[in-house]
Amino acid sequence: MILKTKGKPINLNDIIVGRINKSGITEENSIVILQDDLCENLQTTSNCLAVITENDYTSNPNLNKPIIHNVKTLQHLEEGDIVLLNTDGVINTLFRINSPHNFMFFTEQCNSNCLMCSQPPKNKDDSKYFYEVNSRLIPLIPKDCSELGITGGEPTLLGDYFYSLLDQLKKHLPNTNLPCLTNGRSFAWQNITDRTVSINNPNLILCIPIYADIPEIHDYVVQAKDAFHQTVLGIYNLARYDIRIELRIVLHKITIPRLLKLAEFIYKNMPFVEHIALMGLEIEGYTPYNIDKLWIDPYEYQDILKDTVYYLYTFGMNISIYNIPLCLLPKELWPFSRKSISDWKNIYHDECSKCAELLNCGGFFKSSIKKSSAYIKAF
Ligand code: SF4
Repeated sequence: MILKTKGKPINLNDIIVGRINKSGITEENSIVILQDDLCENLQTTSNCLAVITENDYTSNPNLNKPIIHNVKTLQHLEEGDIVLLNTDGVINTLFRINSPHNFMFFTEQCNSNCLMCSQPPKNKDDSKYFYEVNSRLIPLIPKDCSELGITGGEPTLLGDYFYSLLDQLKKHLPNTNLPCLTNGRSFAWQNITDRTVSINNPNLILCIPIYADIPEIHDYVVQAKDAFHQTVLGIYNLARYDIRIELRIVLHKITIPRLLKLAEFIYKNMPFVEHIALMGLEIEGYTPYNIDKLWIDPYEYQDILKDTVYYLYTFGMNISIYNIPLCLLPKELWPFSRKSISDWKNIYHDECSKCAELLNCGGFFKSSIKKSSAYIKAF
């Protein structure tokens, strides 16, 4: 699925965020896609923010409208999608009207450097850029959007911008669930927890990874000294104010050996968490480079996974399995399996076409073509 395309910019001196309009009737905040000859249709675009087209545009001195022309493809854009036009002619899709898997990207910066990070951090201050983009995006998102993820990088590194965006989300999308992926370390600092609490949005849930019951392993996985203690302290700070918390555990060769110990640690020390997600590995970002350290076939950890899920379930914890197809799970664990992979990176392998469970199975990440289980088998 295409989420990014590029053309030649004209009159584009600042970023523009707007809704795709193919109908020709221009509305406020719309970015018109012109299908036909640009010059013949210019009068229909008078109220719009900008025009984008696959056609070649020959400069018209009477038109000051921002334009991106000669775009490679615009076929992936639907009426009502929200896009970002960059001054270099790159067009990013920010919100897809017909998808339940939309998220806002807050920053590429991170204070951890996890071995299996699918979105490796960049050491560049992008706070203002992403704040501008998301501030323009939020008011345009339909009010009936049921869920909108927040991701990065580490979103809390945006500082004041982070809280401002959370404020805007509460104001414009008061009924939207907001799962926010964070490593949780920032919440070890009381002032950061206090400001998050002051947003007072019951739809916000912080999704925090924890990779072991002992600091040595967690800190190694996230490649950051003291991360375990900061994350645990952050979780306690948040819990004190009833901020909703989900714990996320990525399953790989380093986390599997102590998975049951981690489950015991969670039940005994963090029984207040709302949800625990046990997640299959995505072969993206850093993971291919660390594949020897990380890869274990999910088929081989079935028993440990079963013991862990049963342990937590027996004690009344709310638990799900993400990103592992049904043929790699014991049948007893199927009720815990969720179709968790975002539609734009979800695929099925050839074997799946003859599988009776195809409709119930969450399939694979697109990146599984680089490495996947030897035990995929149709039912
Ligand atoms: S064969 Fe494919 S569809 Fe069937 S359970 Fe395995 S991964 Fe899922």
